[in-house]
Formats: sequence, C-alpha cells, structure tokens
Amino acid sequence: MGIASTLAPEALGPTITVGEILVEIMATTIGSGFREPQPLVGPFPSGAPAIFIDQVARIGGAAGIIAAVGDDDFGTINIDRLRVDGVDVSAIAVIPGKPTGSAFVRYRPSGARDFVFNIAHSAAGETRMTTEARGLINRAGHIHVMGSAFAIPGIAAILLEAVATVKARGGSVSFDPNIRKELMQGGDGRKLFDDMLAVTDLLLPSGDELLVAADEASEAGSVERLLKLGIGEIVLKRGIDGSSHFSNAFGRVDCAAFKVEEIDPTGAGDCFGAAYLTCRRGGMLPADALVYANAAGARTVTKQGPMEGVSSKAELDQFIVTESRELTA
Ligand code: ATP
Ligand code: MG
Repeated sequence: MGIASTLAPEALGPTITVGEILVEIMATTIGSGFREPQPLVGPFPSGAPAIFIDQVARIGGAAGIIAAVGDDDFGTINIDRLRVDGVDVSAIAVIPGKPTGSAFVRYRPSGARDFVFNIAHSAAGETRMTTEARGLINRAGHIHVMGSAFAIPGIAAILLEAVATVKARGGSVSFDPNIRKELMQGGDGRKLFDDMLAVTDLLLPSGDELLVAADEASEAGSVERLLKLGIGEIVLKRGIDGSSHFSNAFGRVDCAAFKVEEIDPTGAGDCFGAAYLTCRRGGMLPADALVYANAAGARTVTKQGPMEGVSSKAELDQFIVTESRELTA
C-alpha cells in the first residue's frame, strides 16, 4: 500500500500522443445517414487523440501531439485551437495536396450513429516520423496511445518507436483501446494489442474492452489477470454509471457519474482519460483524480461538438462543487 504510482511525474516531460486530427461536421436533425440534403453544423475540431491532448493541456499538463493536417481551413481550425489551449503543435505536419481528415456524423433515434469518414486518404494518412516528432518524443515524460490511431497505416510504427523511447527515459504509457471487438479477432490486431498491454502503465477501457483485453469472461477475472501482467492501474469507464479504478496499491475505488443532461457524448472518454492521467501525473490520489475525470467526462457530454466541452482545472473545480453525483454503493 502507499502512494505508489507507475506514472511518470509531470517534471519528467510532457504527455504526448500520436494520431488523427479531424474536423467533425454534425447533422442537426436525427435520422438515418446523409442520403438527402440536410442542415449541418460545424466544422468542429476533432479526432480522439486531439481531444485527449487538448484536455491534458487545458487541465494544466504539458502536452504535445504528433499528427498531420492539410494546408486548409480544417487544419488551421485544429492547430489554432490546440495552440491556444496550450498544446505543443510543433510536431503537427502540414501536408500540401491532401485535405485535413473529416467525419460527418448523424444520430439515429436509437442513439446509434452513421458516419461518413475521410481519414485514411486524408493528410492524417500521411502522418510520418519527422525531425520535429523525434524532438517531441525525446523530451516526453509520458505517451498516451489511442487504439483508434492504429487504424491509420504508418502510425503504429511511430507509436511503437515513441513508446520505446519514452519508456527508455523512465517515462510511462497509457492506453485507451478505443477499438471494436470485431477488429480484435484478426491475428495482427490482437498481437499489436497484446504488445501494447505488455508496456501499459495505465489502461483506460470502456464497455467490454476490459474483457477483450484480458480475454476473460468476468470483470473481476479481467482485472486480476491484467494487474498480474504488470499493468499499474486500470480505470474502467462506465458511461452514466461512472468509473472504477483498480490497482495493487489502492485496490478498487469507485466513482459515481455526475448527473447531467447529455447533448453529445462524443469525446467523453477522451476527456475523462486526459483528466485522470494529468491529475495522477501531478501527484493526486486515484480517488480524487477519478472525481476530476468524471467531471471532465460529464462536462464534455453537455456541449455539442467533440472538443467544445474540454475543461480547465478551474471549470472542473466549479463543476464539482455545484453539480451532484448519483451516489451508488
Ligand atoms: P467515448 O464515446 O468518448 O469513446 P467512452 O466509451 O470511452 O467514451 P464513457 O464511459 O462513455 O467512455 O465516458 C467516460 C466518462 O465520462 C464516464 O466514465 C463518466 O464519468 C462520464 N460520462 C459519460 N457520459 C456521461 C453522462 N451521460 N452523464 C454523466 N457522465 C458521463
Ligand atoms: Mg472509448
């Protein structure tokens, strides 16, 4: 027992990530897809790694991202937002002749979503190891790996090199699988997943990603297996049911969700993970870090647009004292 943490302290260097930067353009009506003209709102800055790193910076952590955008307004809107919020944007490449990635999204009455993506053939698909990227990696204290980034050819190699370098200098690794079960059945996907788990200090699964990660049938069995594997802490995101921390040092710590009206769920998991990690790197105990993380996730869902609900530390402090939580067992 004790305040043991396998997460590198803030002083070792910034939290970095690698992955897709996109704009999101949303249908303003509920319905099925995009097969007729319809009202839209956007572009909003987006991309899971970008949302994550923006939240790290906004809550007060040093932060940087390796990514690629086009030489267009969709790229500019993202770079400007990240820069203003305090993210090191030196390793975002601007690729001439390729558009910035985009996602059109429309909600169905059931809550399911239809997407039209332009990612693999966008500038994001041209993400490469550059001099600037190496410079950022060489001074990083922590790397966050977003599972969705593995879908982009070329990014896996950058992530694996970055993980090795950051680890070698005493840094730590967090991993949000952010991946669907169907993708895990293939041989390569599973191997990459297992290789990542072997170096992960903080695992941030949601839904059945925990069971998929451990290849177990129960939550308790999965946690036991993954902690034995050497993962320092697991934080399970449970949507409106809040979240739970599991570690050998602190055991199980549960945190109820804040009661809010959900406007747009996109980005909740990314902001949650960023807030939790940054609080822990700053020396906060898991129970307190969970409250900030739940608050960050809850605030995100009250705003339309994936990066619009990113919170500063002061906003979270205010939110925590004014909003109530569903206190369950
Ligand atoms: P994403 O859709 O971004 O991938 P996720 O599935 O990784 O999200 P969630 O569990 O949906 O993660 O959300 C992360 C956290 O945000 C939850 O643990 C919870 O604390 C908070 N949260 C999410 N949705 C709500 C909600 N409707 N009300 C209150 N809190 C919420
Ligand atoms: Mg998720």
